[in-house]
Amino acid sequence: MKSSLKLVRIAGIDIGIHYSWLIIFAFLSVTLSVGVFPQLYPEWDTTTYWMVGVLVTLLLFVSVLLHELAHSFVAKARGIPVHSITLFILGGVSNIEEEPEEAKVEFSMAIVGPLSSLVLAGIFWGLLQLVEDPQSPLAGVLTYLALINFVLAIFNLLPGYPLDGGRVLRSILWGRTGNLIRATNIAATVGQAMGWGLIAFGLVQLFVGNLGGIWLAFIGWFLSTSAEASRRELTMREQLKGVRVSEVIGAGPEGISPDANIAELVTRVFRGEHRRAVPVCKDNYVLGIVTVTDVKELPRDQWERTPVRDIMTREPLYSVSPRDDLNAAMSLITRHDVNQVLVMDDTKCAGLVNRADILNYLQLSQELGLRQKGS
Ligand SMILES: [Zn+2]
Repeated sequence: MKSSLKLVRIAGIDIGIHYSWLIIFAFLSVTLSVGVFPQLYPEWDTTTYWMVGVLVTLLLFVSVLLHELAHSFVAKARGIPVHSITLFILGGVSNIEEEPEEAKVEFSMAIVGPLSSLVLAGIFWGLLQLVEDPQSPLAGVLTYLALINFVLAIFNLLPGYPLDGGRVLRSILWGRTGNLIRATNIAATVGQAMGWGLIAFGLVQLFVGNLGGIWLAFIGWFLSTSAEASRRELTMREQLKGVRVSEVIGAGPEGISPDANIAELVTRVFRGEHRRAVPVCKDNYVLGIVTVTDVKELPRDQWERTPVRDIMTREPLYSVSPRDDLNAAMSLITRHDVNQVLVMDDTKCAGLVNRADILNYLQLSQELGLRQKGS
């Protein structure tokens, strides 16, 4: 997830918030301060409503973060790298680089999230028992946090993929049958069905005048779309497995010299060869990459006298080897949100592989009924 603010780094994991979270933050603080607390605790004053509203929202954020950290720590302990956690509109996403290789690992990675929310709910509930006045602001904060963490645990335990409970279900089916694709398909189907169920329930609620139905419908929509997306991603990954990068780039287009000027780059490569990016190579070694976007920033009257080396991207350069499989290329492309990665044979220039090449490959295989795996 790109559009996020980086906050801190905990144990080598970047913690960020997606911009949508700021909207939720504002919305939730206002709902609690203006709607919920004044009804439940009529004795407090306006300042207290706001202070408690904002505090509860902040602590909810910390609770979601702890839930995500629990997933990440288990992943790291099992040797799966985790680079970042992004908190967004409906909770958090841990950027866990690889899918677990074993059902057991997936099971423990998934279950620990809801368990930590449950433990948090227990802690807040326990602390609540120590507060004497149930109408005090402290009691209000603790009650709400216990409740929210409990709801978070239960919701995440629902057995629809990609919720934690869906991952648990998938790991159990996977462990029993040894078939990851089938396990994913079943867990994702449950996820979609639950999503539709929530949408229907939310709409009925809305129909009888309960505005909260909008939220349920929205969460349901989100769940069913992510279930579908996860299923598609896994199918794609299975189809790309074992296909070498060299099969897609073919002979591999030539690079351009760093001394060539932009006018030549545009005429020969962008217009002549209908490409949007090209590796910059000298003596067959890769120095960088230059794309249409780089050229767009340069005024037209400077094209003749500007060499490619002045506008090319030197780093970060993402590259794969012609012998890597297409998943390696695709995961670099999605992780760094770029359109192409360099193909390098050791340090030598071998070409580029881009998103479109990979999608074309998939489309062609599908149309011709080649390499159909899984189901
Ligand atoms: Zn979770």
